[in-house]
Formats: sequence, structure tokens, C-alpha cells
Amino acid sequence: MAAARLWAAAQQPYLASALFAAPVLLDTECGTIAVDRAWNIHADPAHVDRFEAPQLGALLLHLISHLLRAHADRAQRVGVEEDNQREWWNRCGDAEINDDLARTGILPPVAADLPFDFGANVGELVEAYYERPAAGPRQWDCGSGCDDGDRPWDCDGLPHDQRQLLRLDTAAEIHRCHAREPGTVPGGWLRWAETLLPAQVDWRRVLAAHVRRELASTAGRVDYTYRRPSRRQDTVADVVMPALHRPTPNVAIVCDTSGSMHDELLARALAEVEGILTRAGLRQGNVRVLAVDTNVHAVTRVTRAADVALAGGGGTDMGAGIAAATELRPKPSLVVVLTDGYTPWPAQAPKGAKVIVGVLEQPGWPPGWDPPPWATTIPIGPDLPASAPPA
Ligand SMILES: [Zn+2]
Repeated sequence: MAAARLWAAAQQPYLASALFAAPVLLDTECGTIAVDRAWNIHADPAHVDRFEAPQLGALLLHLISHLLRAHADRAQRVGVEEDNQREWWNRCGDAEINDDLARTGILPPVAADLPFDFGANVGELVEAYYERPAAGPRQWDCGSGCDDGDRPWDCDGLPHDQRQLLRLDTAAEIHRCHAREPGTVPGGWLRWAETLLPAQVDWRRVLAAHVRRELASTAGRVDYTYRRPSRRQDTVADVVMPALHRPTPNVAIVCDTSGSMHDELLARALAEVEGILTRAGLRQGNVRVLAVDTNVHAVTRVTRAADVALAGGGGTDMGAGIAAATELRPKPSLVVVLTDGYTPWPAQAPKGAKVIVGVLEQPGWPPGWDPPPWATTIPIGPDLPASAPPA
């Protein structure tokens, strides 16, 4: 059983914490390998001996899925009560689970129903399958953790709160696995995780969209200027002709380096913002970075985030940083502020520059003061990837 559990955790690492939290109880009376409502795995040694470790591992992945997906609670909600209803619910639950398992090339040696075994479409939930006419008795008893029917061997196990925490933890791990390596987590698990956790909007995509929009509007602001001679000046001798002028987008990044900001978090966010600006087509020379607490410490034209000395470390006033940014020449058309939000804000928007505020959320910290309505605010989650994307 220990080898099977290791094998299972290696196959689907996002289920590992749930797999290792569920106690395995060897039970010669139960005549099956099944789960109860309190997350105990009851295993009859006679059945354990029948299978190789990978087969047992596949069955463990299957059983833990019944628990994570709360099939017992859902059976209760749907009104599964009679024995024959429980048997059909068990098979429908098996199909919901095996659908996703099969996509990763794994099928348990028993309880192996798939949706097409009873003529149903793949990718649906147990409730949808259950509405179909029952297609015969189950071949394998997955326990009360699947169909909510009492078994004589059921016993106390994980408390309710802990089960729910394991579900949330698993959902978060699924999001992380999917973000790291899209395609590794089957669609059914992704949809399940999304129902448990609030939809996560990727701040990088939101920020990139705003940056591209601002840069496009600046580049499109074609205007006449008298600073350069017009190409048509020689056609009229007496009149000074204006030339057409297309402004180059300039961006200033204002970094909050006050004591409340976590240096590593800020450096990583800065690296990502620079990556976004570069991919949006901005040249490095057109990005300036200001380190700001209550004073403005450095105005630099940087080529890499690592080059910025994140000076400061005192109190915070991002108003000072925004004011300093708009006094730069050439004047930036876009100011990106990276802060934890523990800062006062100016009452008025700066003239001639759009402001995007990235609020870095630190785990365990309450949110800072709201950025002003004249700025576009993007929350930046604490789950920044360890390495910056390629610039
Ligand atoms: Zn099952």
C-alpha cells in the first residue's frame, strides 16, 4: 500500500497531500478496498495481494477522487437513498473520475466504469450520469465515501474542517501545476478546482493589455510641431510650416521601496513588468525606474531589473513618486506604480500621463488603502513564479 501511494503521488502530484492525509486501515472484514466518509481507506489484505503496486496506486487515485469531489455529500443532495440507487450512483461517480484518469493513461483495475460504458458523453458530472436509466449493478464497492451509505466498517477519521482544507489545498495545487505546465492537469480536475477557488485573473495579461492600449494611443497621437522644419518648407518661402510629429511612448515605473515592501517580491514584480514592456515593443531606453519611499531615490534608465538599486526603506508616499515621474524629460505617457498600497495618494490625476497601479499582495497582510479612481488598479497576487519570464 505504501508503494502504491508513492506511485500514485508521482503520477498526479497535485493529489499528493490528499493521498497522504487519508489513513490506510487494513481490514479483513470489509471485502473490498474502499473509502468511508471520514477519509479512511479500508483495504482487505486479500484484495491488496491481488494487485501490483501501480494497479493499487491507480485505485488509490480513484478512491481519493471520490473524497475530494465530495461524492458522498453530493449523493445526499441528490437524494440517493435506496441500495440500488447507491449502486448506480457508485458507477456514475466512477465514470466521472475515470474519465479524467484515463486521460492521463491510468485506469483502476476495478471500479473501471467509463461514461461510454453506459452510452453517456465524456466530461460530465456524476449528477448528469445519474439521471440516465441505471445500467446494472456495480462491480466494485467504493464505500460510503462514494455513495453515502453506511458500512459496518466505517469509523472516525479526519474532521470535517480538515477535509475541506485538503480540498482547497488540492485545488490550489491544481492551479499551480496548470500554471507551471499547462496540459498536465486533466480538464475535469481544472473545472473542479475552479468551482472551489475564485477565478484567478492573471494580472500579467491584464497589465499587458493596459500597457499595449496606452502605448498604441500614444503612438497614434500624431501631431504638428514647429520644432523640426517641415519637409514641405521649400514649397512656401514666407510661411513657417509645421512638421508632423509622432511621439515615442515613454514609460516610468515607480517602485515603492518603503520598509513595508518585501524586496524580493518587488524585484520579481519589476522584472515581470519590464518583460511585459519589452514584449509590448518598448525599447529599453524608453523605460525609467524610480525607487520611491517618501523621497525619490533614483531615476535610472535600466536595462535589467537587477540593475536597479532598490534604495529607500522609509515611510511611503507614492504621490511624490508620481509627481517626480511626470517631471521627467521626455515626459512619460504611462506611469506604472508598483506598491503594497500602504501609501497616501494624490487627489488629482497627473496631467498628460496615464497611471497603472500594480498592488502587490503579500500573504498575511491586510490590503492597503485603495488606489484613487483615476488610476487603473491591478492586484498582483503573491504567487509570482520563481523566475522572471524571458524578456
Ligand atoms: Zn469508485
